[in-house]
Amino acid sequence: ATPTALMVGTGRSAKLGILIKNGEVLEAANTVKTIVFDKTGTITVGKPKVTDIIGDEQSVLQTAASLEAASEHPLAAAILAEAKAAQVTAAPVTNFQAVEGQGVTATVNGQAAFIGNTKMVHGTLSPDLQSQMNALQKEAKTVVVVGVKGAALGLIAIQDTPKASSAPAIVALKKRGYHTVMLTGDNQRVAEAIASQVGIDDVIADVLPGDKAAVVAKLQKEAPVAFVGDGINDAPALTTADVGIAMGSGTDIAIESGGIVLIKNDLMDVVTALTLARKTFNRIR
Ligand code: ADP
Ligand code: MG
Repeated sequence: ATPTALMVGTGRSAKLGILIKNGEVLEAANTVKTIVFDKTGTITVGKPKVTDIIGDEQSVLQTAASLEAASEHPLAAAILAEAKAAQVTAAPVTNFQAVEGQGVTATVNGQAAFIGNTKMVHGTLSPDLQSQMNALQKEAKTVVVVGVKGAALGLIAIQDTPKASSAPAIVALKKRGYHTVMLTGDNQRVAEAIASQVGIDDVIADVLPGDKAAVVAKLQKEAPVAFVGDGINDAPALTTADVGIAMGSGTDIAIESGGIVLIKNDLMDVVTALTLARKTFNRIR
C-alpha cells in the first residue's frame, strides 16, 4: 500500500462524512468478513418510546420514573418522557444503584424497588405477565419489569425503530458476501424480531456490556471482524475488532475507539467504507 493511494481514499471519504483514522484501518477493513452490529443506536434510531404499560398504570409508571430519574440508560429517557406526558411525578429515591446489563434498584416510598429485565425478579414472573411479556417481545419491543421487594408490579414495553438505512445496508453487505451479526444486551426474542426486520443473519443476545468484546474476540477466531457501535459499553468491542466503526452520534468514548467514524449515522456508509477499502487495495496491490 502506498501512502498516496491511502490518502486519496481517506480524503475522498471524509467529504462523504466517513472519517478513517489511518491507512492501517483501511487495510484492515479490506480483510473483514464478519460485521457485528450493536442494536440500540446503531441498527435502531436509539430514541425508544413507551408503547404499553401492563398493571396499574399510575403506580407502575411512578415507580419506574422514580427509579430512572438518575439513570443514563436510553430506556430511562423513554420512561421519563412517558411519565412527563402522563403528568406522573417521580418520588425521591435513596440507595440508587445501576446494575450493569440488568436495570436499576433503589428505595422508593420506603420500599426496595427495581426496574429492569427478568434477572431483577426474585423467582419467576406470573404465567400471565410472562405470556404478555413474550407477546410484546415478539413485536420487537423491549420489555422491562417494574417491581418492589423482588416481585413484579407490572411491565413497560418500549419500542425503538430500525433506521431507514439499516435494511438496505444489510442487504448490500450480504450481497457483497459479508456475514452479519447483531450483538445486544437485550432479550433474544426482541433481538430476533429486529434482526428479521432488517435481514441480519445471526443474533447474539443477552450479552452483558462487559462481555461484548469477548464475543467479538471469539468471532475473530473464524474470520476478521468489523464491529459497529455507538455506546459507552461498545468501546472495548470497537477496539478489539479488526475494524471499529463508530456512529458520529455515539458517545465520545465510542468515537475515540473507532478506526472509522460515520458522521451521518447512516448504515449505508458501512457499505461505502468497506467498498472503498476493497477498491483502494485492489487498485494499489
Ligand atoms: P443494550 O445492548 O441494548 O444497550 P444493555 O446491556 O444496556 O442493552 O441492557 C440490557 C437490558 O437490561 C435492557 O434491555 C433492559 O432490559 C435492562 N436494563 C438495563 N438498564 C436498564 C435501565 N436503566 N432501566 C431498565 N432496564 C434496564
Ligand atoms: Mg447502542
